[in-house]
Amino acid sequence: MPICIYCLKTKSDDEFEPEHVLSRALCGTGVNWTLGSDVCLDCNGAFSKFEAHWFRQAFEALARNFQGPISRNDKERFDRLQPVEIDDLYIIMKGDLLVYEAGFSFPNEPHFRPQIIDTGHGAQAMVGRREDVKAFKKGLDALLQSRVVEIALPLWREVRPDWLIALVERHDETRSHRISGWRRQAKPSGICLRSYPPDSFLDQRDAGSARFTSRLALDHRGRLYLRSANIESAVRFLDLLLQPAADVPPARSVEPGDQTVAFSFELNLNYIYKAVLKTGLNLCCHLYGSEFARHECFQLLRDTLLNDKKDDDGRSLALRLCRMDADETADFPRSSSADEHRLMLDLTSDGILRFRVRLYNSFGYYAHLGPIPPDLRSTISTRRVVVDFTSSGMREVAQFP
Ligand SMILES: [Zn+2]
Repeated sequence: MPICIYCLKTKSDDEFEPEHVLSRALCGTGVNWTLGSDVCLDCNGAFSKFEAHWFRQAFEALARNFQGPISRNDKERFDRLQPVEIDDLYIIMKGDLLVYEAGFSFPNEPHFRPQIIDTGHGAQAMVGRREDVKAFKKGLDALLQSRVVEIALPLWREVRPDWLIALVERHDETRSHRISGWRRQAKPSGICLRSYPPDSFLDQRDAGSARFTSRLALDHRGRLYLRSANIESAVRFLDLLLQPAADVPPARSVEPGDQTVAFSFELNLNYIYKAVLKTGLNLCCHLYGSEFARHECFQLLRDTLLNDKKDDDGRSLALRLCRMDADETADFPRSSSADEHRLMLDLTSDGILRFRVRLYNSFGYYAHLGPIPPDLRSTISTRRVVVDFTSSGMREVAQFP
């Protein structure tokens, strides 16, 4: 029976699934290397949130949006491709006092999300793309028909996912809403409340006098969310929806350069580095074999990934084992193309197995996978991998071209 290279548990065949050495999200439709039965379903599942963060909420998410690969297959809906799942993504228009919710879909197409926004004189609805109308209307109808709206507020996002649910009751006679109760639960339900970014967000972007106001918008999964300063202002905003619609201002002509797309990330380096470390051990397993990948010299790495092992200061060890690295070195040169990634495994002079990866010829990571015992060092040779995600996929090379 196979043994998982991460939890080292022996399990039956059906408790394993093929694991991509490098996430398929980065390989395109070319050759993908997979580990057959080396990573169990439990470990794979535990790692998926690290990968999701890496490719949907970090720099790489934007690079994918500009550069590709387009998708794992051609059947996915155009506007569902590579959604950049960053909370703060806006369009600021020259001469407009409002900051609008934006979305970003492949290839490099910023757009207005369907939204109802508080203009200061009432609520105004806008939909940027015709194909969004139906989903937005469906969400709104459901919202306006429910007597009690649930609004989910994140409590401790990191340590222990926990949500506070505000139960907001509609009172038709006064055309208003009131919070009638609270509930705590492990998963969000109803409509999520997102907060405004800090004041400095607009100051840094020469946004003129544009300011945030409450709004209700549709995310790329077709779910409504609210954005407001706090739960009280969110509830007052719901009241606006019960008022007669505001006058629609005449359409303004927009010149090229009048619109600015503004965004910010909240990078979770702990997650990103874990995704990098995991990819390193996967590659190691593919190139040197699973028995080697299960060696006790990688126990610290395994504990970091599976048990979030901390250093003496309470920081995740992932932050010690991995770092971002933008520098080019003679043995790990940049390529001439942003359409490829490079990966490399070698031993440092101290006998530590080192993993380096550079995505889109830009984002670099440097990781220590583990100290290789002296008797094993001679079995480790330097390995280099190029991933051409526009055509051939992953291949090993003797030297970087
Ligand atoms: Zn496992």
